[in-house]
Amino acid sequence: MVWCFDIRFERGFRKFLRHIGVEYWDAIRLAGGAKCLASADEGARQFVLDQIRISMRLHGTRRVILMLHSDCGGYGGLEAFADAQAEAAHHAGELRRAAENLVAAIPGIKAEPYFVDFEGVWALE
Ligand SMILES: [Zn+2]
Repeated sequence: MVWCFDIRFERGFRKFLRHIGVEYWDAIRLAGGAKCLASADEGARQFVLDQIRISMRLHGTRRVILMLHSDCGGYGGLEAFADAQAEAAHHAGELRRAAENLVAAIPGIKAEPYFVDFEGVWALE
């Protein structure tokens, strides 16, 4: 699981994970969550990809949950966008890029991108 260290969305997201049958996970938490795989610098991306590879080797991980959330400090907060809709659209693009970059770097891995806001959890398809 690649998610932000912002604690505000933790309870709801954990509940959601239980709901979709995710019981155990390796947590990779950093400011911006999946941003590191989408738009952050190359060094950050490689670091997180290595963490995922280690998780795969140690725990047989085959599924990576990518999480972005509303009002994330890693993106300058909600005020960096015109409104919540603009933020959601931007983050959908980021999640798509994060998933593409992940699968390109680690063929065969299953990327599951989710956007979490104050209303709930949104799957990206
Ligand atoms: Zn955040």
